[in-house]
Amino acid sequence: MKENTENEQTSVITATQRGPAVLISAGVHGDEYEPMVAAAELAATLPEMLTHGQVTIVKVVNPDAYGHGTRQGSDGLDLARICPGDLGGSVSEAYAARISSMIKQADYYVDMHTGGLTYEIHPLAGYMLHPNEAVLDVQRQMARCFDVPVIWGTDCRPQGRTLSVARDANVPAVYLEFGGGAGFRREVVDTYVAGVINMLRFLGMITGEAIKSSESYWLEDHRPDSGYLQGKMPSPAEGILMTQVALGEMVSAGQCFGRIFDPVSGVSHSVYAELGGMVFLKRAIVKVQSGDALGGILPITQKGKHTIYE
Ligand SMILES: [Zn+2]
Repeated sequence: MKENTENEQTSVITATQRGPAVLISAGVHGDEYEPMVAAAELAATLPEMLTHGQVTIVKVVNPDAYGHGTRQGSDGLDLARICPGDLGGSVSEAYAARISSMIKQADYYVDMHTGGLTYEIHPLAGYMLHPNEAVLDVQRQMARCFDVPVIWGTDCRPQGRTLSVARDANVPAVYLEFGGGAGFRREVVDTYVAGVINMLRFLGMITGEAIKSSESYWLEDHRPDSGYLQGKMPSPAEGILMTQVALGEMVSAGQCFGRIFDPVSGVSHSVYAELGGMVFLKRAIVKVQSGDALGGILPITQKGKHTIYE
């Protein structure tokens, strides 16, 4: 096998025997760092392990956003909302076009994220509820290759995502979310590296038996925009957010999620869980504006698979 580094951001690892083409990406958002390190570590370790097929690793999909340490590029655009992009467009649009054409050429795709600077996310592997049952089933199996407590299938209709491009090209695809906020979390890197290696075993590209997770909370939610994180639990006011729940905690409907206190006006608002379930998303930035998403609750209380229909 050989490693053929196309440029600093992209590594292509080709095994001696034929097999699937897998694309792994990090840095769609410029403030999500552990996936970039996981991508670099995979690029360093996979040449010794890969027996079949080809793995392409993009360590930083949007180097402009990374350079600024921000979710969006300097053009103000979120790359995960503008796919398939435009090679002749602005900087983020051009990078979106580049990753989109790579996704279309892949047989399988994994997009690694964190909550960025703004959110903290309980570890999860997600996928779109693809209308093609064969693609959907492969995505379920790919997601179960990752040792994370939550597996989450969501509405397949959103546009502009890397996963929208994969959906339209019938490329089985999963995304990963874990961590975020300030600080570096080594466990995110380790979970992603181990999970990708396990998934490559499942695809027959690395020797050994893949281990499928069976201990997860597994939700398939067909309702419109079920996977849209920024729309969840909007803040009623500007102020300082003091949450009273932990990630992964089970809460009941009506339980106090946290308090927003504005030290200028002295006004305080309590925010209550709108449904019972698991806290999987929490805002990491303490100062909030009215309308900012404060967190999210998955309507699951027991391990195993649950389906919510539209
Ligand atoms: Zn992201």
